[in-house]
Amino acid sequence: MTHAIAQLAAVVATALFIFSLYWMNDPKTARRGVTAGVIGMLVAVGATWVQPEIVHHGWIVLAIVAGFIVGVPLSRVPLTAVPQRTALSHAFGGLAAGLVGTAEYFLGLGAGGADLSAFRMSAIVAEIILGFLTFTGSLMATGKLQEVRWIPQRPVTYPGQNVVNIGVLVIAVALGVLVAVHPAAAWSARAFLAIVGLALLFGVLLIIPIGGADMPTVISILNSYAGLSAVAMGFVLDNKLLVTAGALDGSSGLILSIIMCRAMNRSFTNVLFGAFGTVKAAAVTGEQKAWKEETVEGAAQLLEQARLVVIIPGYGMAVAQAQHKVRELYDQLTKRGVTVKFAIHPVAGRMPGHMNVLLAEADIPYTALVEMDEINSDMPQCDVALVVGANDVVNPAARYAKDSPIYGMPIIDADKARTVLAIKRSKKPGFAGIDNELYVQDNTWMLFGDAKAVLGDLVRQLTGGSGLH
Ligand code: NAP
Repeated sequence: MTHAIAQLAAVVATALFIFSLYWMNDPKTARRGVTAGVIGMLVAVGATWVQPEIVHHGWIVLAIVAGFIVGVPLSRVPLTAVPQRTALSHAFGGLAAGLVGTAEYFLGLGAGGADLSAFRMSAIVAEIILGFLTFTGSLMATGKLQEVRWIPQRPVTYPGQNVVNIGVLVIAVALGVLVAVHPAAAWSARAFLAIVGLALLFGVLLIIPIGGADMPTVISILNSYAGLSAVAMGFVLDNKLLVTAGALDGSSGLILSIIMCRAMNRSFTNVLFGAFGTVKAAAVTGEQKAWKEETVEGAAQLLEQARLVVIIPGYGMAVAQAQHKVRELYDQLTKRGVTVKFAIHPVAGRMPGHMNVLLAEADIPYTALVEMDEINSDMPQCDVALVVGANDVVNPAARYAKDSPIYGMPIIDADKARTVLAIKRSKKPGFAGIDNELYVQDNTWMLFGDAKAVLGDLVRQLTGGSGLH
């Protein structure tokens, strides 16, 4: 009976996971997607728990309580810390898979090794290599993103790095093959522990050549490694739900990393070998043009008189937490009959969906959010493009500068608007470390300052208030 319930629960949970991913594709249904995922996980854990071989281990309650104690505060981190929080979750997932694989091997060994078939051993070896490398790799990624002092933020590179990294992995896999073929030999347990050590080391080596700001892409790759280790764990434990959930996790992580790579025009093989993140500062080319500044009064007037305003948010809006001021500006302009759209670049900010989440937090209607491909055809008709802390995603050099680190990255065509107003604090470059000619183009006017403060001033100007920043 419990077996039938478990089978049914596995089907229900799998369906919920699939719908959860599907609904998360659209901001309108994303909340439903999260709820479906949570319910799916509750069904999965509940159904596993009622299994006769597990239910008598009452102490499992302690593990669940410990999970809650760690998990609930983790869910409360600010939005800007979500990438490192996600990396930490992957670390726990990887560790769990690695420990389960280790336990299964030593239990099997203690029982004489009859259960350790070549297939089962292959799954265990895959599980521990992927699990343990995900554990240390994700911890390193968390440390880099959290800017932990003793973990270098800069990419650490040395000659022959890829050879060393691949060498470590090859040795681990070769030992894995030996252990899978001879699981109960006198030396096997030591070889097994050596694989664990090498996988832990490989996770660290994989991450150190990558710069802190490139971590979101790496996290999504580690997500897929964690998923694959869960698939292997599913085979080891003969748990179909783990196999399907792990496969969904692994493939969605992989798809997300491919989307991010494409949106940044990075090669996927480059990412897989961990040899990216060393952004070279681009040389300043051509004549030096002057930066022109606009006053808040002048900018407010331009915005008021426009028919179509396209707001292009970027990382600076997240840093300044300016989304609520953006909303106030949106209200002021739409009240005056101005059409206001938001241009959403897939890699604006520092994590996928960063801008969507911030704008949704400020209750900006989803219908006003327009994806890059769609908005670009509107840009020549746009009266004012208001750039709020975006830089690389509006840099025209991506179209033609072959030596630029962002060459080939699709951009939002802000430069094609009739007038460009750009808010940033200084003349410093953005994430890719290169100058942006958009800011010195003839029809661009800068509004220097913190995005929240400048937008606050603009709103006050439009509402006729005083006390400008
Ligand atoms: P960006 O190129 O990093 O530029 C952000 C701009 O915001 C900077 O020029 C900065 O100039 C300005 N800024 C920072 N704080 C500000 C504040 N408080 N007020 C006003 N302005 C502020 O950002 P982006 O255009 O959004 O491009 C994202 C970049 O991140 C891309 O290169 C992308 O490839 C990369 N990336 C994205 C992801 C992702 O998943 N989204 C993942 C990895 C990498 P000042 O310092 O002068 O103010």
